[in-house]
Amino acid sequence: MDLSKTYNPKETEDRIYRLWEESGFFNPDNLENAKAGNFVAAIAPPNITGELHMGHALEHTLQDIIFRMKRMQGYRTLWLPGIDHAGISAQNVVEKQLAKEGVKRQDLGREKFLEKMWAWKEKYGDTILGQFKKLGLSVDWSRTKFTLDPDYQKAVEAAFKHYYEKGWIYKGERVINWCSRCGTSISDLEVNYVPETTTLYYIKYGQFTLATTRPETKLGDTALAVHPDDSRYSKFTDQNLEIQSVDNENENETKLKTIQIKVISDAAVDPKFGTGIIKVTPAHDVTDFEIAQRHDLPSVTIIDRHGRMNANAGKRYEGLKVSEAREKIVKDLEYLGLMEKMEKYEHNIGRCDRCNSVIEPLPSEQWFLKMKDLAALAIRALDDGKIRFHPSRWTGPVRSWLENIRDWNISRQLWWGHKIPIEGEEDVLDTWFSSALWPFAALGWPEKTDDYNSFYPTQYITSARDILYLWIARMVFSGIELTGKMPFKDIVIHPTILTKDGKRMSKSLGTGVNPLDLIDRYGADALRFGLAYQTTGIQDMKFGEETMLMGKKFANKIWNISRYILMKIGDDKVEPKSHGLPIIVKLEDTILKVTNHVESYEFGEAAHVTYDFIWHDLADKYIEETKNLDDAQTKETLMYILVNCLKLLHPFMPFLTEEIYSKIPIEDKKLLLIEPWPVLK
Ligand SMILES: [Zn+2]
Repeated sequence: MDLSKTYNPKETEDRIYRLWEESGFFNPDNLENAKAGNFVAAIAPPNITGELHMGHALEHTLQDIIFRMKRMQGYRTLWLPGIDHAGISAQNVVEKQLAKEGVKRQDLGREKFLEKMWAWKEKYGDTILGQFKKLGLSVDWSRTKFTLDPDYQKAVEAAFKHYYEKGWIYKGERVINWCSRCGTSISDLEVNYVPETTTLYYIKYGQFTLATTRPETKLGDTALAVHPDDSRYSKFTDQNLEIQSVDNENENETKLKTIQIKVISDAAVDPKFGTGIIKVTPAHDVTDFEIAQRHDLPSVTIIDRHGRMNANAGKRYEGLKVSEAREKIVKDLEYLGLMEKMEKYEHNIGRCDRCNSVIEPLPSEQWFLKMKDLAALAIRALDDGKIRFHPSRWTGPVRSWLENIRDWNISRQLWWGHKIPIEGEEDVLDTWFSSALWPFAALGWPEKTDDYNSFYPTQYITSARDILYLWIARMVFSGIELTGKMPFKDIVIHPTILTKDGKRMSKSLGTGVNPLDLIDRYGADALRFGLAYQTTGIQDMKFGEETMLMGKKFANKIWNISRYILMKIGDDKVEPKSHGLPIIVKLEDTILKVTNHVESYEFGEAAHVTYDFIWHDLADKYIEETKNLDDAQTKETLMYILVNCLKLLHPFMPFLTEEIYSKIPIEDKKLLLIEPWPVLK
């Protein structure tokens, strides 16, 4: 028995982690005595572009707490790690690197470019998994999956084929979100709407005045539209008007020309916007595209995929960038007396989530997956309580998203990803199409492998709220449809970590906190305990370093308590024994509460209860009261409490507790990692 004077996480953590890895007990195949059943979850696979941030630190710490408790409770635990190929964001990283050398992906061609991607993946792709080890995560590394592994590719192809044969996959023209920088369509969920002040232009259309933020799209207008109940305009509905416009075919002179345009009525028009009459540009606006479909209006594309005006915009504007065309047409309209007024206007501009370029809605041929039946499966699972959210308040938003869902545009004009499994098709699938298969594809589906048969369905999944729709909802319906089973029972949505003054944490904004720095300063256990301690299901977490400091002090307290007890015992042979003293009653109450809280995903409560028992009941009271006692009963009781506290604390502070446990002189000890969880006698 010897504990150094102070606890040194730096000296301990890597050594202990190696011990766990070498033991093989992260792998369920080695848990021969596990009789309680299986406990399985797949980790939310980080992107290969990722590095550990506070969101991961929180999410995975909480998961590790559950897994470590379940393993000690005798479950055959499988926590499956993996990594996502992260289509567009990974491709962007490599494209940016190439750009520094003045090379474009098109210069290399698809094959050579993909070689670069794989080389990059080999070099940096699993940096983040190494960082997970610093946190102490008890994942089964032998089963690590990558979403472009050959068997995973088979799963993606099988899913596509399944949907295709059901007639749910179709090719269609839609106005989609196009990023001309990334050169691909992106989903609605990957567009960030950023409030910006621009100009609202009031343009004369014959006897009407129309407000628009995008006067250049005037060249693609095929109708005017009003709300059906708007009495101001009812007499014009369905009429063809002759109006004056700018002559867009005249390159040299600013001249008027007469055009014909129809007035239609549609409930999608907001009578309160501008003058209540809008121009309809079906090719460059999602709402206008839908209006045009309902009224059978033609669609005229005037902007190309590079964000420039095309021939349909007329010789006067062809070849100009959208912003240049806007400037020019505003001048022309002013010159021709067709611009009534301009005013400042704050509204949301759609920007690419990956590169922040302004999104251009463009008509495009894309592959779609029909959502109606799939969404209905997920809605039923939620309504029947077969899948439950924790906290439950997330059920409502997800349900309503599913009810209002549009067909899913699953094709992307990228090279890095799963190629659409159709002969002659060049596009790849939306990266979320493969992520949606994660809990079963990672276990071998569609093959009925041993892992799939033993470990699917999984128990639960954790996620940040920002990918509730992108990922969680899609895993639910994909799982039910493709495997006939709920992919998991519980969905745990962890709080968002904000800065101390409530701002979003972001590396680029300089408001991020690096968990590796915190581990370096306070130790991994202090970080883990501090995070768990702050977690409540209700609020987002405003992060302050105080709780890390508190975690560190707590770690030292536990070290000192252990050191005290071991010194008191000295060289005596002492069996841990419960003597039914009041402190034991209190300990048993604590065991019960911690167990129940962790089972219910109430981590903050579990951490508080443990902390209070150890600090107040044990250290402040019992140890003080027995300071001068030296009898066997006291020693046995202290030993009993120590062993049980180390077990209770192990899920929260695994390194520290394993280290102390290794020094305790009791017989038939195993690694604390697999010692039985304390139970009430
Ligand atoms: Zn982009």
